[in-house]
Amino acid sequence: MISRHNGVQEAPVVLDIDPYLYGCTPAPGCGVCTALAKQLDKGKTHEERFDAATEIRNHPHAEVVK
Ligand SMILES: [Zn+2]
Repeated sequence: MISRHNGVQEAPVVLDIDPYLYGCTPAPGCGVCTALAKQLDKGKTHEERFDAATEIRNHPHAEVVK
């Protein structure tokens, strides 16, 4: 009753960073975006996926999303 700690490590807090770092909107019909989206999907590391998402965000299109 003195200590409530049970000696078991609490589960780590997992921050959901995907929506922010990997957030992107591949333009439909754009070959480059499609390839990058695939890269983003198959990326093994955060860096790979982040780079792909960044490239998609930076890929210029007539229609501006956000
Ligand atoms: Zn594109």
